[in-house]
Amino acid sequence: MKNGALYNEIIETARAFGRTGLSVGTSGNLSARTDKGFLITPSGVDYADLEPDSLVELDLNGGIIDGKLKPSSEWHFHHAVYDDRPEVNAVVHVHSPYATSLACTRQGIPAFHYMIAMAGGDDIRCADYATFGTEELARNAVSALADRRACLLANHGMIALGASVPEAFHLAVQVEELARQYHLSCQLGGPVLLDHKEMAVNLEKFRTYGRQDS
Ligand code: 13P
Ligand code: ZN
Repeated sequence: MKNGALYNEIIETARAFGRTGLSVGTSGNLSARTDKGFLITPSGVDYADLEPDSLVELDLNGGIIDGKLKPSSEWHFHHAVYDDRPEVNAVVHVHSPYATSLACTRQGIPAFHYMIAMAGGDDIRCADYATFGTEELARNAVSALADRRACLLANHGMIALGASVPEAFHLAVQVEELARQYHLSCQLGGPVLLDHKEMAVNLEKFRTYGRQDS
């Protein structure tokens, strides 16, 4: 039975999807980079039933290094992100209600709030639609994630990236909250958007936000 810190971190975080309302049942998935590739949740297994042995380690060609279950059906986009983004060590994918309902209208989230900068730019894009589990979805996701740490997936959900599992999970929580706030402000007649210049200031401030040493 495997019991490394990374295995436990992935399992605890996947279980938190349900507790925090980010995903229910078996929807969503989570991975973290390892020395040889990445470790990912299995396909179609309820998070409550996850054990360290349920996780699957894949190499950077998508080959199975270790694991007896089928990897998440979305291993293509996890793999594509690790390939494209050396600074990323964790990928969280959820079907959270507000981000997903917005993604079903095929809209991203514009600069309606300064905290959009958390995702790395002026907006959070919505990736073009492709069938779940396909390489086409992986390509669409990577392109919507260019210079960003999060994106929506049309008619599907969202992806959040991080340098660590807690960081990616925390960003997914924030993106869902931003989608909720955007939804509410649209009900009130639509938000006034921040311009590119103001978002550049916010992006700069976010580089050191939360660091007590700066
Ligand atoms: P998996 O159970 O295969 O990870 O699929 C869940 C999902 O969210 C597919 O997009
Ligand atoms: Zn999904």
